[in-house]
Amino acid sequence: MTFKKAVAALASIAFSATVGIANAAYPEKPITMYVPFAAGGPTDTVARSVAAVMSKSLGQQVNIENVGGAGGTIGVQRALTSPPDGYSLLLMHIGISTAPSLYRALKYDVNKDLEPIGLITEVPMTLIAKKDFPAKDLKELISYVKTHKDKVSYANAGIGSASHLCGMLFMSAIETDLLTVPYKGTAPAMTDILGGQVDIMCDQTTNTTSQIKGEKVKAYAVTSKVRVPSLSNLPTMDEAGLKGFSIGVWHGLWAPKGTPKAVTEKVNQALQDALKDKDVVERFASLGTVPEPLSRQTPEALRTQLASEIAKWGPIIKRAGVYAD
Ligand code: ASP
Repeated sequence: MTFKKAVAALASIAFSATVGIANAAYPEKPITMYVPFAAGGPTDTVARSVAAVMSKSLGQQVNIENVGGAGGTIGVQRALTSPPDGYSLLLMHIGISTAPSLYRALKYDVNKDLEPIGLITEVPMTLIAKKDFPAKDLKELISYVKTHKDKVSYANAGIGSASHLCGMLFMSAIETDLLTVPYKGTAPAMTDILGGQVDIMCDQTTNTTSQIKGEKVKAYAVTSKVRVPSLSNLPTMDEAGLKGFSIGVWHGLWAPKGTPKAVTEKVNQALQDALKDKDVVERFASLGTVPEPLSRQTPEALRTQLASEIAKWGPIIKRAGVYAD
């Protein structure tokens, strides 16, 4: 071995030892969990529920940073361009798998820039309207929007959000395009539904349950294949007349590519702790959802989920002819 090579070899041993020690000590400071939608919305609610327990497990605060806009793509980009040191995490949903088909100039590559940590929960959606919307069930809603399509507005969280995806499926199922109004998340969209400025929206039960129960909005159906126990009076879309209509908003946790495995393993353990926590399970149940089973709270399951969802939504989006620049 030449002198130069020996020095290089020693340096690399020293470097991995330092990284090893750093990983063993992780986390030594607060962690940022990026949520690509507005505070107080459905994704934020899931994130804050798990982050509270993860903070205890990791012994450091997991802070939520909401970076909304462009259907979540701005926040995803922010997370994925953060240093891959375990202090930046990303909690995102199904939209991460649809953005590559919807956005022509996405600045990140979901196949290359992500380090999967685990699946969290699949949340049903609900089709709702402002309180005085003139339709009492889904059949009436469909016939009303078909005859008043230029007057009915549909709120969403931008192209690529779950509310956009659900709306896209709904509009193509009823063969009617509606005026869409984009927000940075469905929390501000809900404010406008409550205020009567927009008419209808499809949004996760983690955001709509309390408004539905408090009769602040009209609710027509849930988008899951079976009824949701906490909203058992609501029919499924299929039962209410739109045969075969279903969508579930799966959520996952990622780190930027290159985050050390020892770190993602610790984060995964903390996520699993959160998903078996009694308060989290109870809160999820009251909001219409359940944690993913343990076997799916893993990097492998999330990797597989992402790949199969990209393959699933690509052709559907292409057929719908929807895209953004
Ligand atoms: N999940 C988004 C939010 O938290 C909304 C959406 O995807 O439609 O606001």
